[in-house]
Amino acid sequence: MAYAYDDQNIFAKILRGEIPNDTVLETGHCLAFRDIAPQAPDHVLVIPKGAYVTYDHFATEASDAEILDFARTVGRICDMLGVSPGDGGAGYRIIANTGANGVQDVPHLHVHILGGRVLGRMLPKAG
Ligand code: 5GP
Repeated sequence: MAYAYDDQNIFAKILRGEIPNDTVLETGHCLAFRDIAPQAPDHVLVIPKGAYVTYDHFATEASDAEILDFARTVGRICDMLGVSPGDGGAGYRIIANTGANGVQDVPHLHVHILGGRVLGRMLPKAG
């Protein structure tokens, strides 16, 4: 695995405090903040603090503590947003756009947590 991490990406700047963000939750290894251009009433990004480009990069090279914190943080955000079906919420979607085919704009791993409205089909049907 050969990922080169660009430390000038916008989320790296947010993590360094060079750009403000609307933080929802900060943990030892993660930051969760509202997307600047929300595509649903609830739209939160969860990122690891470590320099990982994609989910597969993170899953392969991150420590167990980082991976556990990331997974728990996603769960805590769903809880905080009130979207978990297990607690009577109406549900949500988690997306990790990756690479060129995934149309990833920011090369620092992030998952989008979207909720607050019906989100439609995952992908348009192939033509
Ligand atoms: P991607 O296409 O890489 O999955 O999504 C990147 C996301 O980052 C987009 O939804 C975009 O609105 C969001 N974004 C880009 N720049 C900023 C920023 O400076 N602050 C915040 N909070 N979100 C950003």
